[in-house]
Amino acid sequence: MGVGSALGKQSSSVGKQGNMSSSPGNTQSHADLKLDDGDTETKHILPMPISNLEVQYTKIFIDNEWHESCSGRKMPVYNPTTGELLCEVEEADTEDVDKAVSRARAAFQLGSPWRRMDASDRGQLLNKLADLVERDRLRLATLEALDSGKVFLMAYFVDLLATIKSLRYYGGWADKIHGKTIPVDGEYFTYTRHEPIGVCGQIIPWNFPLMMFAWKISQALCCGNTIVIKPAEQTPLTALHMAHLIKEAGFPPGVVNVLPGYGPTAGRAIAQHMDVDKIAFTGSTAVGKLIQQAAGGSNLKRVTLELGGKSPNIIFADCDLEYAVEQAHSGVFFHQGQCCLAGSRVFVEDSIYDEFVYRSVEKARKKVLGNPLVPGVDQGPQIDQKQFDKILDLIESGKKDGATLECGGGPWDQKGLYIQPTVFSNVTDDMRIAKEEIFGPVQQIMRFHSVQEVIQRANSTHYGLVAGVFTNNIDKALTVSSALQAGTVWINCYAAMSSQCPFGGFKMSGNGRELGEYALQEYTEVKAVTIKISQKNS
Ligand code: NAP
Ligand code: MG
Repeated sequence: MGVGSALGKQSSSVGKQGNMSSSPGNTQSHADLKLDDGDTETKHILPMPISNLEVQYTKIFIDNEWHESCSGRKMPVYNPTTGELLCEVEEADTEDVDKAVSRARAAFQLGSPWRRMDASDRGQLLNKLADLVERDRLRLATLEALDSGKVFLMAYFVDLLATIKSLRYYGGWADKIHGKTIPVDGEYFTYTRHEPIGVCGQIIPWNFPLMMFAWKISQALCCGNTIVIKPAEQTPLTALHMAHLIKEAGFPPGVVNVLPGYGPTAGRAIAQHMDVDKIAFTGSTAVGKLIQQAAGGSNLKRVTLELGGKSPNIIFADCDLEYAVEQAHSGVFFHQGQCCLAGSRVFVEDSIYDEFVYRSVEKARKKVLGNPLVPGVDQGPQIDQKQFDKILDLIESGKKDGATLECGGGPWDQKGLYIQPTVFSNVTDDMRIAKEEIFGPVQQIMRFHSVQEVIQRANSTHYGLVAGVFTNNIDKALTVSSALQAGTVWINCYAAMSSQCPFGGFKMSGNGRELGEYALQEYTEVKAVTIKISQKNS
């Protein structure tokens, strides 16, 4: 499958050769390193990051051209591993947003090359873009690791694969978006058309910069929309490389416009814009509320939101224990814990609780921290100082509130934005660490006694993004998964995602669904057309 299985496989593979310690700043390349997957017959050569990669694209992309910002301002882009400045990019603000929206509107006009295009040619363009991403896979993965601190091999195997797959998946949908004919009174003939909505504003976060970009644009484009997209201020570089590839693939000017900029300025301008027909946002629940308000306060644009979570992962005593420990571990520690779907409330049944905690701590202690470009490293830095401080503050609250600190609990003993993999046991539901999204490498393990109790506690949150259940009892698995208030439930797996499968939240984890066929509803308007049949010839 997609992200999840790649996630589990890759993290364990990387771990196997992970005895080398590395220091932040070491970008040495290890071209001769091989991955021993346990089978002596099959040794795979690992991809290596490009050394001394130069950033090529730093401007605002509108109408298939590169632009300087109207204000003349630029914004700095840092490497979170070293703290050094990677480059400056042009900083879009309201005026640039206006310019981009007007070009996206022009590209959407009836009769434009984009609107006249055969739907299957739209699909071809998405497939061509996927080809170009495959061609530039190393470059994109390296750029992602440099810009976001993501472990290079994770970027290469998980993010890049998910990117390519979503472009191809929605490329396949482009010419299969059908309306219906509706049986009505015989004097009439009624059919529906599923039309593109129009100009779509898209605002994405820093944790999966490229994958989020691909998810957002592939769904919108396959339905025939045009786009104004803002990457996160911390991580604009892979989105800008994608802009270059979009032009190279042959998308008409104005169809995709990429504007690096800040949320309260450029992001707000997109959300409030009277000529943006739909907004899709991924990020925090707090900003999600602002987006919905901005839509309500302007033109009631359509809104889809993919927000945060505090997801329960429920481990019953009858599970495969070692596997559950492993899945729960990667479910929370993946990408430094900076993941909306992190299973950060691990509920463990009383009879296996102590053993589960013991094994989880063993696992957390084995994590190799360091420069994400270096093979063997499986935890890089947090994205920035603000997130680093927020995570440490929550760790301190856990200690103060009386949870048992089993391991970690502070910054890593080196310079940089690294946090020790941290495990808390004896966590109770009222503690901040059990309620707030930490977005860091911090695992909370709670104890439960009965099915009804754990269902009630798992649902006792404003969030509802995902949930996990580990048990070998099918009745228990089905009972619990039906009762959980979450957009996704994984049974005996975690983070097993694919382009084909819808993703989104219940409650304050969001509105609408991304991915799969369901996403097509979020990017189309249904038009019913009714024709009176003339009775003259009857
Ligand atoms: P955030 O503020 O919600 O940022 C997400 C995106 O929204 C960024 O592109 C951001 O721009 C933009 N934005 C911010 N304020 C805006 C506004 N007023 N109007 C329009 N757009 C706006 O998230 P964050 O500050 O980066 O992270 C804070 C917390 O959000 C994390 O601790 C985590 O809990 C959560 N989060 C969740 C996800 C997820 O996948 N669900 C992803 C990232 C973060 P800037 O580039 O200027 O920030
Ligand atoms: Mg950066």
